Amino acid sequence: MVKRILVALGGNAIKQAHEKGTVEEQFRNVKTTCKHLLEIIKRGYELVITHGNGPQVGNLMIQQEEGSKLVPPQPLDVLGAMTQGQIGYMLQQTLINYMEKEGINKPVATVVTQVLVNRDDPDFQDPHKPVGPFYTLEEAENLRRVKNYFIRKVKPSGGRVYRRVVPSPDPVKPIEGEAIRRMVDAGIIVIASGGGGIPVIEASNALKGVEAVIDKDLAGERLAEVVKADVFLVLTDVEKALLNYGKPDEKPIDKMTLEEAKKYYREGHFLPGSMGPKVLACIRFLEWGGDKAIITSLDKAIDALEGKTGTHIAKR
Ligand code: ADP
Ligand code: MG
Repeated sequence: MVKRILVALGGNAIKQAHEKGTVEEQFRNVKTTCKHLLEIIKRGYELVITHGNGPQVGNLMIQQEEGSKLVPPQPLDVLGAMTQGQIGYMLQQTLINYMEKEGINKPVATVVTQVLVNRDDPDFQDPHKPVGPFYTLEEAENLRRVKNYFIRKVKPSGGRVYRRVVPSPDPVKPIEGEAIRRMVDAGIIVIASGGGGIPVIEASNALKGVEAVIDKDLAGERLAEVVKADVFLVLTDVEKALLNYGKPDEKPIDKMTLEEAKKYYREGHFLPGSMGPKVLACIRFLEWGGDKAIITSLDKAIDALEGKTGTHIAKR
C-alpha cells in the first residue's frame, strides 16, 4: 500500500545559521533539501511538505521597517503569506527540475495556508515568541510606544538585547486542509502550512489574520491529521533527540513508545521552542492514529526512513 508522509523541514533546509539569506544561498540549500525529498518520492511515498520561515520573515520585517518611509509596512500575517510564497516557489521549482531529470512526472504546488487558532488562547495574554531584529533599549521603547509592540529582553547583556515578542497560539486546524487533502488524493505533491501557517481567528463568523506565530511542527501535525498521513517525519539539524539534553549524561534516543515520549516530555528533556514542540507534535500524531513519527536530521532522512537512524516514536 502506498504510504503518505508529511515532512516538516527545519530552518536549515533553507538557510544555514551563519548565512545572511541571499537568494543564491537559499537556492543552494533548497537544492540539497530537494535531493533528499526526491529520494523520498522515488521510494513511492505520497509527499506533503511543510517548512519553517523564521529567518525569511525576520528579514522581511527589517525590510518593512527600513522601507516604511517609502511604502506602507505590512503586518505579520501578510508577511507570513509572503514567505509561504517565497519558500514554496523555491521548493517547487527545484523539485520540478529534479523530478524532470529523473523522468518523474508529478505535479507540485504550494498552498498558502491559514491556520485557525483560538481567540482566547492563553498565549495572546502573555506573548513569548521573539520575532525580527534585535533592538537597543531606546529603539525598543520607541516601538513599544509607537507601535504597541510587546518587547522583551532576550539576552542577559550586550547592546542589542531586545526583541519584539508575539503570541504563539496552539494550532487548531488548517483552513485549507480540505483543499490540500483533495490535492494529495489526486497525486499532487503539496507544500503547505509554511512557517506554521498564517494564524487566523474566527470573529463574528469571519476569519481574521492575527499578528502571531504558530510553531511549524505543531501546525504540520494538524495538517498530517487532515491529509491522513501514515508517517510524520520531522527533519531538523540533529540526528536524534536526546535525553538529559545539555547535561553530562545526555543520551540519544533511538526509539520511544508513545507513553515513554509523554513521560520524557513531561520531565522536560526537550526544550520549549525547539525540540519540545517536535516531540509534542509526534505525540499528538500518534494519539490521533498515525503509524509512526520520526525525528532526524535532513541528511539522514532516508536512513531514518529505512530504520537505520533517527528517533522513532510509535504507539508501542
Ligand atoms: P528547526 O529549525 O529544525 O525547527 P530548532 O532549532 O527549532 O530547529 O530545533 C532543533 C534544536 O533543538 C537542536 O539543534 C537542539 O539545539 C535543540 N534541542 C532542544 N532540546 C533537545 C533535545 N532534547 N535533543 C536534541 N536537541 C534538542
Ligand atoms: Mg523550530
